[in-house]
Amino acid sequence: MKELKERILREGKIRGHNEVLKVDSFLNHQMDVAFLQAVGQEFRRRFDGCQVDRVLTIEASGIAVAAFTAQAFDQAPVLFAKKHKTKNIAGDVFLSQVESFTQDKRPYNIFVSKEFLHPGERVLLIDDFLANGSALEGLIDLVHQAGAQVVGAGIVIEKAFQPGGERIRAKGVRVESLARIASMSEETGVVFCD
Ligand code: 5GP
Repeated sequence: MKELKERILREGKIRGHNEVLKVDSFLNHQMDVAFLQAVGQEFRRRFDGCQVDRVLTIEASGIAVAAFTAQAFDQAPVLFAKKHKTKNIAGDVFLSQVESFTQDKRPYNIFVSKEFLHPGERVLLIDDFLANGSALEGLIDLVHQAGAQVVGAGIVIEKAFQPGGERIRAKGVRVESLARIASMSEETGVVFCD
C-alpha cells in the first residue's frame, strides 16, 4: 500500500537495528482515521470474496484497524482479545498465552469470552504489526479452541526480517501485509521487500 509506505518513510521512527519501528503519528498513538479507513478498505479488497463473520484482534493497537476493516466488511462484529483477566468478564473464556515482543518478551495471557466466538464462524485476524508471530499464534489458538475457522490475517506492517510471517504462513494461514519491511536501521532507514 503506497500511502502506508510513504508514511512509514516520512514519519516512522526506528529504534535500534531491526528492532522496533514507531509509527505513533498515525497508527499507534495518534490515529489518522481517514488513513485507517483506507487501510480497512484495502483489507476488504485483498480478502474480497472471502466470507467474514467476525474480525478478531488483540488490544490495544489492533482495535482501530480492526474496526475500520469490519466496517469495510459490511459491519462484521469486531472482537478484541483482552490482555489481562478482569472482573468485568462474565462466564467462560478461551485463553491463550502470548510472548510480548515490545515488553521484554514477557509472556502474558490473552482471552476472549466464549459468548462472542462460536463454532463454525469464519474469522479474519487483524493486527498492526507482525514480528515473531506470537500474537497471531495466540489469536489462531483462540479461534481453534472455539471450533471456528481462520479466514486469514491482515497485517498493517510486517517486519519480514523476523520469523513471524514465515511461521504463520507455514501453518497454512493466508497473511496479507500492507507493507513488508526487509530491514531497518537509523543509518539505512526503512528498506521494503517490494
Ligand atoms: P509478535 O507477536 O508478532 O512478535 O509481535 C506483534 C505484536 O507486537 C503486535 O501486536 C505489536 O503490537 C507489537 N510489535 C511488534 N513489533 C513492533 C514494532 O516494531 N513496533 C510497534 N509499534 N509494535 C510492534
